[in-house]
Amino acid sequence: MFRPRYAMKNLISCPNCGKLIDPRIPICRHCNANLALAAILAEKKMTIPPVELLKGQLSPEVLVPRLGDYLIEKEVLRKEDLQRALRYQEEMQAKGQPKLIGQALLELGAISREVLDQAITEQIFQLQSALQRANEKLEARVRERTLELENALNRLSELSQLKSNFIANISHELRTPLTHLRGYLDLLMDTTLGPVNNQQVDALSVMLKAEDRLERLIENLIRFSDFSRGSLDLQLESVDLLDVFMEIVPVAEQKCGEKGLVFHTKIPQGLPSVKADKQKLPWILNHLLDNAIKFTPEGGSVHVGASIETGIVKLYVADTGIGIAVNQIDEIFEPFHQVDGSSTRRYGGTGLGLAMVRQVVEAHGSNIVVRSKKGKGSYFEFSLPIADAGLER
Ligand code: ADP
Repeated sequence: MFRPRYAMKNLISCPNCGKLIDPRIPICRHCNANLALAAILAEKKMTIPPVELLKGQLSPEVLVPRLGDYLIEKEVLRKEDLQRALRYQEEMQAKGQPKLIGQALLELGAISREVLDQAITEQIFQLQSALQRANEKLEARVRERTLELENALNRLSELSQLKSNFIANISHELRTPLTHLRGYLDLLMDTTLGPVNNQQVDALSVMLKAEDRLERLIENLIRFSDFSRGSLDLQLESVDLLDVFMEIVPVAEQKCGEKGLVFHTKIPQGLPSVKADKQKLPWILNHLLDNAIKFTPEGGSVHVGASIETGIVKLYVADTGIGIAVNQIDEIFEPFHQVDGSSTRRYGGTGLGLAMVRQVVEAHGSNIVVRSKKGKGSYFEFSLPIADAGLER
């Protein structure tokens, strides 16, 4: 008959993994623990947790720290009696019968149950009111901080308002002299003020271009400050996309030609009207096209187009330009943010355009999608709902 090498009753559990082991072997064959060491550690663990120790003697006293000192302060206990009780406590601990100090004092007859109960109750009340005071202090501090934060927030919105007002005022102030400048440049260019030679025409063209840029920058600043002051009122109506393309395409085509870029359009047949703001839609596409042209080096190409899908028309502007790193795509929509923010940056601009483009697209209930690869080009897309038959055409 099969006989095990040792009787079952000799088996014990490994203190580490709990599996049955042969006590004659010093290493557990399941977890490789040193059994002597594991036993010592297991035993230490047993003697440490105070809550375990207090089992069976849980009384309100465990909530009260330094009960002995309190009883002496109250003059209901003598120092010698406390010392005696502490020694007694140690002895009982050594015997494996731990005692709380109040219990020890009672057993030695140093205080009465009544005195002990009263002291413990008083201590608990004191702790409770201390806790309440701490809570009240904490609440007051939270109220104070909340107020400070509210004030800081108000101050920030005031400053932001001041900034918007400042931008609006300064932009309007700049626009007035610029109008005169533009008027006289036009008069000079069309020779109303007398004949101009070729060299002067060249100089005037440069000045007109610079004035044009300045005018656009100022328009952008005024628009931005208007938007930040919450005045983004859309006039939603049925907009004929062909009209929009007819307005923006020739301008973009000319700019691309001047920069040596190939310009592509993809406008499907039977393009329906969309529900949009007639003024702001061409402005969005123009800004995306201006960026595409600006950030595409000579020889590259710029694309604008639309595609019809169920209930919507998707509009896109793409280029084969410098592209944007994936981790910077979100940043380009931050106001005043430019990917190349250095003082020696190659491309002009205020970093406001895309922040406003996003605001306007979102105000249309849509969102702008960007796909871009550094060095390869960028693609900006948003969609607009097809205008329903009920809308005026
Ligand atoms: P900016 O007036 O400076 O062009 P935008 O808000 O229009 O301001 O654009 C913010 C930044 O986003 C630009 O400075 C540029 O770094 C990046 N960006 C925008 N469009 C493109 C694009 N088509 N290709 C590469 N980078 C672009």
